[in-house]
Amino acid sequence: MTADLSHDELHAQAKRREFTLVPGSPVNLLEFDLETLTALCERLGEKRFRAVQLFRWIHQRGCANFDDMSDLAKSLREKLKGVACVKAMEVVSQHVSADGTIKWLFDVGGGNVIESVFIPEDDRGTLCISTQAGCAMGCRFCSTGHQGFSRNLTTGEIIGQLWFAEHFLRQRLQRDERVISNAVMMGMGEPLQNYAALVPALKMMLDDHAYGLSRRRVTVSTSGLVKKMDLLGLECPVALAVSLHAPNNALRDYLVPLNIKHPLEELMPACVSYLAYAPRDFITFEYCMLDDVNDSDALARELVQLVKYYGHSVSWCKFNLIPFNPFPASGLHRSKPERVLAFARILSEAGITTTVRKTRGDDIDAACGQLAGDVVDRTRVTVRIARQRRVELPSHSAVDAKI
Ligand code: SF4
Repeated sequence: MTADLSHDELHAQAKRREFTLVPGSPVNLLEFDLETLTALCERLGEKRFRAVQLFRWIHQRGCANFDDMSDLAKSLREKLKGVACVKAMEVVSQHVSADGTIKWLFDVGGGNVIESVFIPEDDRGTLCISTQAGCAMGCRFCSTGHQGFSRNLTTGEIIGQLWFAEHFLRQRLQRDERVISNAVMMGMGEPLQNYAALVPALKMMLDDHAYGLSRRRVTVSTSGLVKKMDLLGLECPVALAVSLHAPNNALRDYLVPLNIKHPLEELMPACVSYLAYAPRDFITFEYCMLDDVNDSDALARELVQLVKYYGHSVSWCKFNLIPFNPFPASGLHRSKPERVLAFARILSEAGITTTVRKTRGDDIDAACGQLAGDVVDRTRVTVRIARQRRVELPSHSAVDAKI
């Protein structure tokens, strides 16, 4: 991190894409997208194409030492050493699961630790990235949501997770080519609540001079910040996953408190609108399977009606059913496997593409909804969560009456 600047100042700086050069207080170039690097090169009296070279050294090759950037003029390297650095977050710990999943904890200062998870599969490598230290959304089934919220991550802290993981894995696997093919913003935090820092990081993920990931393989997950969904579609359309978890407002108010502000009547049309920009012709709905809460046949049928009502067919979305990873404070339980299958069958028989997510990294607490890091709650979220918890679990008749 850049010395002598608070995290809030850093964030504000990243947001404006502005920077000040102060000798002895180097700016961290992980915070800089290509546009900002170009401005830096111009400020240093260098040609614009030097920014592309620098960007490639940092992101394509994982180089943090200006002396190793051999095709940059020595004079530029000296100038850079005076004002800039490439500094990743400190790794607090690394856990490797029996299934090959790797979880890293990064220190982001101020007593906050965030998490990233690498999930290797035969045909892809996926990195699950955090966008906030904690989360203010307070979803009932989510371990992060129970911790409270400390602060937004900066652009450099978001892209720094990919920078570290990609180059660490290349070294470890002794590979020259890309290891991480997919990036999902499904770690700690509500990505769209940190929109200003997120979008430059997404653009760096997509940039051929940096990671060159396909838009179809970069996914932003949201609990339903509808205005930001619209903005994302216009500014940086990547794949979208929406945390739905319920087919009606009564149940969704209970599980995802944001629904009280942005109910399904706002969320579903925003999802349909996003299709005009989405790199794929569908939206993914995430649905965490909770025993005796949202996993009945009746609710599966209601879900089918919801999808048909807003999309006039069922092919505009896919469902990803997620086994709940229990944690004591939730008071919730994982649906039985046969219940998940019965629920999935109802959706599939209605023509909706439905998958059941395999749990990965269970043994190292890296599975979905288990990312908890360690954050200093600065927003009394835990108090707010307690207030939100007054929303009662609706009876099935109340549920049926809503939509
Ligand atoms: S599910 Fe996502 S938005 Fe909801 S509390 Fe967890 S991290 Fe936040």
